Amino acid sequence: MTVKIKAEQLRDWGIAYGDYLVIAGPCSAESEEQVHATVAGLAKLPVNVVRAGLWKPRTRPGCFEGVGEPGLRWLKEAGAAHGLPVTTEVATPEHVEAALKAGIDVLWIGARTTVNPFSVQPIADALKGVDVPVMVKNPINPDLELWLGALERLNNSGVTKLAAIHRGFTAYKKSRFRNKPNWKIPIELRHRVPNLPIICDPSHISGNRKLIAEVAQTALDLTFDGLMIESHIDPDVALSDAKQQLKPADLGKLLASLNPMRATPSDDELAYIQGLRRIIDQLDGTLISLLKQRMDIASEIGRFKKKTRLTVFQPKRWKETLQTRIRHGRELGLDENFLTRIYEYIHEESIRHQEEGPKD
Ligand code: PEP
Ligand code: MN
Repeated sequence: MTVKIKAEQLRDWGIAYGDYLVIAGPCSAESEEQVHATVAGLAKLPVNVVRAGLWKPRTRPGCFEGVGEPGLRWLKEAGAAHGLPVTTEVATPEHVEAALKAGIDVLWIGARTTVNPFSVQPIADALKGVDVPVMVKNPINPDLELWLGALERLNNSGVTKLAAIHRGFTAYKKSRFRNKPNWKIPIELRHRVPNLPIICDPSHISGNRKLIAEVAQTALDLTFDGLMIESHIDPDVALSDAKQQLKPADLGKLLASLNPMRATPSDDELAYIQGLRRIIDQLDGTLISLLKQRMDIASEIGRFKKKTRLTVFQPKRWKETLQTRIRHGRELGLDENFLTRIYEYIHEESIRHQEEGPKD
């Protein structure tokens, strides 16, 4: 079922970017110097938006919980110094108010907030009448309805510059990922809300630097619209998520290694594809006339059987037909399930022709 969410295209957000949007920056803003130094490094790369967390939703108490409001100015000024828009996580209406007052360009809602409608609704209420883009991370549990619900709450408040971020799901069972991706869910989201931009956060999916490139490439192969990757000037001393942050220079190498999908083919590529499509058109024409010939013969058999008072459906013949066609197809590398489904349709239609004769 399609969900009615009014979402603008990512290209209409007023942010310049290339093949896909790149959001990068530290997990947390820690000091004015750390923010400025990181952003100066990122500004040399194809990075389009700078991120930094100010209010950190830590799993256990006693960890670094973010610098809070003072960081808003550091982030905004660092972005402005390089002409880059900035984004931060908001988890309460007070965060929204402070972030908007500081001129933060894009907001995001974290995975631990998306999960709770009691948290999302007041954020949506605080955003009424405000034309700011909002990105919604998936809830920590693999629940598409909850993710959609958060997007709908924002949309009902009039937010139309919306994006979803896949950052993986918490799993009790250990895996090589910190938060296991479940690509089926963002793909299903794409089907349910076709025009909603979807971004991938390979940093929180991976949990360590080694996996990020692989996850980012998978997201691009699946035609995600952007990537959010954590980058810190000195990851080893980062106050949060130290293992998954990349130095700006390493992020640059990673971005250069990615191979994005391209929306527009070159003239040569288009000519090649069109040549192949013409062959497919001819083959489809042949396929349809063969099906017509096959049905005509089925009708003739039907007429003969009627005249000679024989029953139409001969189970033994059908079993043999299916087996031989599957065997033949398999030898050619065709999928058994595919052939079975096709032959079931053909057989059903043949029987109809035998019983009724061809339709006029
Ligand atoms: C983050 O982006 O730093 C963060 C806390 O992410 P998530 O909500 O995905 O855990
Ligand atoms: Mn983080």
